[in-house]
Amino acid sequence: MPQESILAADLVLPVAVGPIRDGAVLIRDGRIAAVGPFADIRCSAPEVEVRSFAGHAIVPGAVNAHGHLGFRRKDKPAGASFSVWLKELISKLPEKESWTAGAARDSAREAVEAGTTYMAESSPYGECLPQLAESGMAGTVHAEFFPGDYPGMSPQERVDAIFESARKMSDGLPARVDCQVSVHSPYTVDPVSAGLAAVRSRKEGGRLAIHLSESPEEVEFILEGTGGLAEIFESADWRGRGISPVQYFEEAGVLGSNVIAAHLATSVSKNDLDILKSTNTAAAHCPRSNEYLECEVSPVPAMLERGIRVGMGTDGLWSSPSLNLFEETLFAIRLHGMDGALGLELATLGGARALGIEDEAGSIEVGKYADLAVVAVAPDGVDAEMEVVEVAAGGGVAATVVSGEFVYNQTSS
Ligand SMILES: [Zn+2]
Repeated sequence: MPQESILAADLVLPVAVGPIRDGAVLIRDGRIAAVGPFADIRCSAPEVEVRSFAGHAIVPGAVNAHGHLGFRRKDKPAGASFSVWLKELISKLPEKESWTAGAARDSAREAVEAGTTYMAESSPYGECLPQLAESGMAGTVHAEFFPGDYPGMSPQERVDAIFESARKMSDGLPARVDCQVSVHSPYTVDPVSAGLAAVRSRKEGGRLAIHLSESPEEVEFILEGTGGLAEIFESADWRGRGISPVQYFEEAGVLGSNVIAAHLATSVSKNDLDILKSTNTAAAHCPRSNEYLECEVSPVPAMLERGIRVGMGTDGLWSSPSLNLFEETLFAIRLHGMDGALGLELATLGGARALGIEDEAGSIEVGKYADLAVVAVAPDGVDAEMEVVEVAAGGGVAATVVSGEFVYNQTSS
């Protein structure tokens, strides 16, 4: 017998198509079997149990295209230039081990309760994988590796080691959770290791997460080899390369259609945008973290105009106030002057496209997983999407559904 249910609400916003008043979603075996007006869905499946959410809207679950789970709010480093913040972060690493798992559990819970159904998480050596796996969300943990941790090994040996470790960690996980690799950034991973990791990721059909062109100091470090990051990553033979971080990683062979580049916030030139477009590299937009760490504003409208894939990311609690992706999106809407429909799309289908999972998630379409957020608002204005994003941003997610299962439900229906 197939597992079936109907979720009904005052409004369904499938994102792929326009709003449906008095809408419903028919779920069968974890996937969307039909979406449309409740009357039609009911007619086509008269025996199936209905859960009605009066006064609510159903939207696709949020897709967090870049986040970190292993940080906690209470000892967040003060907002400052990126290198000052990074120094403080590094100084706290020794004691962090004792509480990272608890922080990751809390962060994941916060994301779930804010309607997140898929998360692309990055953590050192994939340390937050157990907490993502137990959260109920679908997602990938991207294991960051740092070449200095592999003394005496060649770049190829290091890269093989991290991929092998990610493969082993993927054993025995829930469906829709896996472990892949991250090349942390142009200032922490040498270009040879970064390029080899990209080659292997492409060969295996995987996805590679990177941080790129985040702060003014990263741009200065790659261009001239000077500034705050040069003090942290001191090296006698590094003089900068006279090019932008985007050019630098393109030359290293890192960029490609399987790459999700977080931030792209500072000094992203027209030439950089051309490179992102021609390599089909996707972007994860994390505007609140960018503001906190004195980065510039990512040129998201220009990216969208060029057809560069853009999703939203919360980053982690040491640079961002919450794991609520809808709150991040509302910030982006106001920053760029976008309408609600575009905002909701970036938070859901945009993220899925950026991560290459748009055939499986990101919108309420037949055949995709039933990944949904139920939001406590029945919008009646002209910009229904904006009302939904605002309420979800303010803590108004009433239930979260992943693969047709409720992973969070504060309603009594
Ligand atoms: Zn990050």
